[in-house]
Amino acid sequence: MVLEKYNSPLRLREVEIGSVSPGETLVSMLASGICGSDVHIWRGKDPRTPLPLIPGHEGVGIIRNTGGKAYDVLGESLSPGDLILWDRGIVCGKCYYCCVMKTPFLCPDRKTYGIMRNGCYAQDLILVKETRILKVNKDVDPALLASASCSGATAAHAVELSEISPGDTAVIQGPGPLGIFVLAFCLQKGAECIGVTGRIGDEARLRFCREMGADFTVNIDEIPLMERIDLVKNQSAGRGANVVIECTGSPDALEDGLKMVAPGGTYCTPGIAVPHESIPIDWYQDIVKKNLNLKGVWVSDTSHLYQAAKLVEKGHFPLKGFVTHRLSLEKANEALRLAETLEMIKGVLEFSHSQ
Ligand SMILES: [Zn+2]
Ligand SMILES: [Zn+2]
Repeated sequence: MVLEKYNSPLRLREVEIGSVSPGETLVSMLASGICGSDVHIWRGKDPRTPLPLIPGHEGVGIIRNTGGKAYDVLGESLSPGDLILWDRGIVCGKCYYCCVMKTPFLCPDRKTYGIMRNGCYAQDLILVKETRILKVNKDVDPALLASASCSGATAAHAVELSEISPGDTAVIQGPGPLGIFVLAFCLQKGAECIGVTGRIGDEARLRFCREMGADFTVNIDEIPLMERIDLVKNQSAGRGANVVIECTGSPDALEDGLKMVAPGGTYCTPGIAVPHESIPIDWYQDIVKKNLNLKGVWVSDTSHLYQAAKLVEKGHFPLKGFVTHRLSLEKANEALRLAETLEMIKGVLEFSHSQ
């Protein structure tokens, strides 16, 4: 399914992908996640995308063929029939950010499948030799696993930077796929009290968060700003949350979020993925006087993908109802519309292949 023009329906096309060169891997897709970023791409809001483009950066598939001997990041040999997922970002592996800072997500040459080059809204995809691949257990639902490669990995990165500790109070702004994965990682890290905030229309997502283990949820359209800040403080002996993680994609979240953080706490923002207007901040009250840690979170690296894949593979969290919509490739336009109206928690394109 090809995006040829922003805001227009994707078109079903035959696209020649060529043959498999040494080091490359030909994969047949099993599941391709519909991400909120795909809606931004479709709407022309992501400045990184060239056209025409096959979108889709969350992929799980089976190997058809490899160009010579191939191994995953754990050193496991890869063969036809193996179930894999991969780091959606391809990095150079030899620049200052890759090697010295050990922050490959900041690599200036990072290229993302489905954003800067063709991706997973397709029957088959050739993974270039720099792609970092992870072989996974064949018993895992590919649709659930697909989310691990974007929302899951970015959530792992955010929770890592937030330095959440056992006993902490955490607030997650936004109950979408990113927020749900952040919730799972906060539970895994031993946060004692976790709240999730959402808006009108998010009721099903907030309910899902409570079922997963969130201690409380807040609908910000129903409770005024100062009341919802007090509500968070009341959950933490008047202090506020040790960590607040923004997963809304909306800059408006910052006003609430910074005020909900306790002195000495962290505000972490993985949700904003496309350019937005600037917003005012009370620098003295909300940042300096609180000794607040403010953490931007840009995408993720292979270590985060690994953490997210393990989280799904181990099945410790009741993520079963997470994928609410399963559609065929031809229904990609419908899937994007559903994602835009937030009618689903998570939508995934599923594929069938003749063996
Ligand atoms: Zn994504
Ligand atoms: Zn690099």
